[in-house]
Amino acid sequence: MTAPTPLIAGNWKMNGLAASLAEAKAVAEGAKAARARVAICPPSVLIERMSRELAGSAVAVGGQDAHAEESGAYTGDVAAEMLADAGATLVILGHSERRATYGETDSLVAAKVKAALRAGLEPIVCVGETLEQRKAGEALKVVTGQVRGSLPADLAGKAFAVAYEPVWAIGTGLTPTTPEIEEMHRAIRATLVEMFGEAGRAVPILYGGSVKPSNAAEILHADEVGGALVGGASLKAADFLGIVNAV
Ligand code: PEP
Repeated sequence: MTAPTPLIAGNWKMNGLAASLAEAKAVAEGAKAARARVAICPPSVLIERMSRELAGSAVAVGGQDAHAEESGAYTGDVAAEMLADAGATLVILGHSERRATYGETDSLVAAKVKAALRAGLEPIVCVGETLEQRKAGEALKVVTGQVRGSLPADLAGKAFAVAYEPVWAIGTGLTPTTPEIEEMHRAIRATLVEMFGEAGRAVPILYGGSVKPSNAAEILHADEVGGALVGGASLKAADFLGIVNAV
């Protein structure tokens, strides 16, 4: 089976106003010859405007979360259908900031993945261990457990990605060593093959956590790394393009 096309996705988190759309346009301009699929996930209120600005470009627009239900009395939440209606084609689910701050469990993430599929969105499902879990030698067990618990069987035959994001590497400037990244990505790959058979080999496994232009090439060329989920370095077009062009 051929390796999946790498995916480089930017997670703007709660950053960006209308003026930031200029950065997205600069990414679209600079990514014209990219060897990777490129996506930007801005705050939900910018999705529609960004989708219009990037229409016809190679850069996709995604959400950062979605409610599991299609509609209802869930003040402040956004349904997967609403993201798709605004122009999103992907959605990040189970980010560690949501798991930690909003108590999202594997089963809730799995329900959100089903919602994304219902709406025709490609889910990017995040998993990752805390520093305490890594120090206790539990990283592989925790992360492969999250993969099993967060990916419903409904994903069979659908486009999706898994993002391995060690919690301790997010926004800290710290990264695992390349052998540590490869060990985890191989374990995730083996779990995907267990769950989805040979189709599990076509799922891009992104690495996320303090990826920047200076470390992108080494990380992106590591075994079983199929792209990156980028936080801080996705906010400036020049930095994000430095990562996109390291593929
Ligand atoms: C993230 O939050 O998904 C992330 C990878 O952040 P950063 O690149 O800033 O570490």
